[in-house]
Amino acid sequence: MGAHYDVCLEQPGADDNASAVAGLLESARMVAAAQPTLDYRIDFVAFSVEEPPYYGTHDMGSYRHASSIKDQKNRLA
Ligand SMILES: [Zn+2]
Repeated sequence: MGAHYDVCLEQPGADDNASAVAGLLESARMVAAAQPTLDYRIDFVAFSVEEPPYYGTHDMGSYRHASSIKDQKNRLA
C-alpha cells in the first residue's frame, strides 16, 4: 500500500497527497492492532518524487520501489 508525500507546484498538499498518507498510516495502525495471520507480506510505503517532473518516468519513487522488489525476487529465484 502506498502514498506519496511530495507536492506539485505551490499548494499545501492536503488533498494531493497528505490525505493518502494519513490513510496509509491509519491502515498500518489498524493492521498492527489486529495482528492478522497472513500468508503474505504487506508493505506500507510512503513515496517521494511522484509529481512532475518525475511523474510517468522510471525515476518515480513508486516505480523504483516496484523495480527493487522485482530485482529482489530475481535474486531469490
Ligand atoms: Zn499526486
